[in-house]
Amino acid sequence: MGSTGIEVSVLGLGTVNLGRNQEVKYPTGFTIPNDNEVRDLLSLSQELGINFIDTAPAYGNSEERLGQLMSNPNDWVIMTKVGEIFENGQSRFDFSAEHTRESIENSLRKLRRDYIDIVLVHSSGDDMNIIQQEDALAELDKLKQKGLIRAFGMSTKTVEGGLWVVEHCDVVMATCNLEYNEEQPVLDKAAELNKGVVVKKGLLSGYAGVAAGGQGVEKSFEHVLSQPAVSSMIVGTINRHHLQKNVELAEQYISIAD
Ligand code: NAP
Repeated sequence: MGSTGIEVSVLGLGTVNLGRNQEVKYPTGFTIPNDNEVRDLLSLSQELGINFIDTAPAYGNSEERLGQLMSNPNDWVIMTKVGEIFENGQSRFDFSAEHTRESIENSLRKLRRDYIDIVLVHSSGDDMNIIQQEDALAELDKLKQKGLIRAFGMSTKTVEGGLWVVEHCDVVMATCNLEYNEEQPVLDKAAELNKGVVVKKGLLSGYAGVAAGGQGVEKSFEHVLSQPAVSSMIVGTINRHHLQKNVELAEQYISIAD
C-alpha cells in the first residue's frame, strides 16, 4: 500500500452488504447474509488469498459483525472510515476532532483490534471543505502518531480532493471504472509519489455484471488492475461464486500487467 509498509491483496472485500441493505445503489435488492454465510465468505476469502477488508461505521453493523465473525481479526488488514454516520436510514456527517476520536474508539472495540491498519475520512462529497475547514485529517494524523492507526487518508469524490490527499496522506480511495475515469490524474500522481490507491466502485456498483454484453466484469478487472497505481480494488460481494470468479480474474490481470 504505497509506502506504508502494509501489504494488501490486490482484491479486497467490501462489506457494506454485511450490515446494510437500505440506501445502497446495487442493481438488485439483497438479503443481508446470516452469521454462517458471513463466516463462510470470510474463510473462503482467506483461502483464496484475500487479506484486505473494507468497512465503515456507515455500513450498518458491518464492523461489529466482522469483529464477531472473523476467526482472528488480527489476520486481516482492516480499513475503516470516519465522518459518515448512517442512522434511521439516513446519512449525516461529522468531521470534528471529537467525533473522529470517538469513532475510532468505537471501531477498535467493534473490530476487536488494538489498532486499525488504515482509516479514511468518508467524504460527503465536499472534499476541499472537509480538507481545509474540518479537523478529521489532523486528528487521524495524531492517532497515527499515538499508534492507534497505521495509515490514513480519505475516500474522495473530487479530483482536487484526491490530489490533495495523495500529496499529504498515505492512502486515497478513488473511483475508477469502465464509465468513469475522471480521477485518472489522482492515480497518476499517486503512482509518482508512491502513495496507496484503493479503488471503489470498480464493478460499477454491480452494473458491470450486466454491461458490455455480459463481459463487463472481465473488462472491469482488466481496466482497473492494468493501472500501475492501484494497490487494491475493493469489490463487495456476498456471493461465493462471484468471489471465486473475481479472484481468478484479478490473478489473470495481475499476471498480464506483470
Ligand atoms: P462494486 O464492488 O463496484 O460492486 C458490488 C456489486 O457487484 C454487488 O452488487 C455484487 O453483487 C456485484 N458483483 C460482485 N462480483 C460480481 C461478479 N463476479 N459478477 C456479477 N456481479 C458481481 O460496488 P460498491 O459497493 O459500489 O463498491 C465496493 C466496495 O467499495 C463497497 O463494498 C465498499 O466497501 C466500498 N465503497 C466505498 C465507498 C466510499 O465512499 N468509501 C463508496 C462505495 C463503495 P453480489 O453480492 O451478488 O456478488
